[in-house]
Amino acid sequence: MLKVEDLKVHFPIKKGLLSKTVGKVHAVDGVNFELKAGETLGIVGESGCGKTTTGMATINLLKPTSGRVLYQGRDMASLDKQELRDLCKEMQIIFQDPYSSLNPRMVVRRILGDPMRLHGIARGKELDERVDYLMEKVGLTPEQAGRYPHEFSGGQRQRIGIARALTLKPKVIIGDEPVSALDVSIQAQIVNLLIDLQKEFGLSYVIIAHDLAVVEYLCDRIAVMYLGKVVEMTDYKNLYTCPKHPYTQALLSAVPSSHPNVEKTRILLEGDVPSPINPPSGCSFHPRCPKRMEICEKVRPEIKETGTGHTVACHLY
Ligand code: SF4
Repeated sequence: MLKVEDLKVHFPIKKGLLSKTVGKVHAVDGVNFELKAGETLGIVGESGCGKTTTGMATINLLKPTSGRVLYQGRDMASLDKQELRDLCKEMQIIFQDPYSSLNPRMVVRRILGDPMRLHGIARGKELDERVDYLMEKVGLTPEQAGRYPHEFSGGQRQRIGIARALTLKPKVIIGDEPVSALDVSIQAQIVNLLIDLQKEFGLSYVIIAHDLAVVEYLCDRIAVMYLGKVVEMTDYKNLYTCPKHPYTQALLSAVPSSHPNVEKTRILLEGDVPSPINPPSGCSFHPRCPKRMEICEKVRPEIKETGTGHTVACHLY
C-alpha cells in the first residue's frame, strides 16, 4: 500500500537580517517502512523524535528533503498537481488535538460536507445523506451535525475528526496521537471505534503515539523512532516480549506489563534526548545507552534483520 524509502526532513535554521542558514534540524533522518493493505503500523518514541514529521511527510502535508514515498507503487514526487490531489484523497489524517483541529466557526455538517463538495464526491441531498451516514458511523446522530464544535465533549470532537478523515473515502489514515488528548475513560472507546472502522472500510493505519499501551492494542507492527531514525521494527508481540534495541528495552521497562510472564527491571536512561541540530556521531543513542561499546561512538549502525520481519539498528546485533 505504502512504501517509505530513506525519508529525510531537515529544517533549515536561519539567523540575522539576511536569513542566513546557519544549520539544520534533522527532524527525520532516513526513515524506511512499508504499510500493507489493512495493516496498522505504530510509530512510537519520545517527544521530538520525528514521529509526527514522518507522518506529515508521508501523506504530502510536508515536503521531504529527500527520499521517496510510494503509494501503491507510484512515486508521489513524480505526480503532477491533479494526480497528487486525487491521490491525497486516499490518505487522510486524524489530528491529535480535537479542540483545535476543528474550525470553531463552522457547524459539523459543513466541516464534513465541504471536503466532499470540493472534491466532487457528493452534492445536495446526497451530501446531506453522506454527512448523516458518517455521523452515525462514528457514534453520533445526524441531528448533532447542526451544532458547532464547542458544543461537543472532547471524545465527541475526536469522533468528528475521525468522520472528517473518512469523508473522502480514504484507504490510508495517519492517526497523529489520536487519543492522547482524551481522558483515559474515553480513549478505549475511540480505539475501539478505529478498529471497527478499519474492519468495515478496509483501512490501513499509521498510528503515531507515545502511549505504548494504546499502540500494543491497536497495531500489528511497531516502529520505534529515536532522534529522527527508526531503530527497531517488528510485530507487536515480538516488541513487547523480546525487545532488542537498548532504547526499546528502556521504553518498555517503564510500561506496566500486560504479559504476566515478562519480568521487568526498570532501565533508567542518562540525560535528555540530544538536540536534532547536532545529533551525536555514530549511534545517536550512544550518549544515553547503558550497553554502549567503543564502536558505537564512531560508526552509525545500519538497520539489520535479526529475525523474520524484526529489524534493529544496533552494533549488538
Ligand atoms: Fe547502544 Fe551501541 Fe546499540 Fe547504539 S549501537 S544502541 S550505543 S549498543
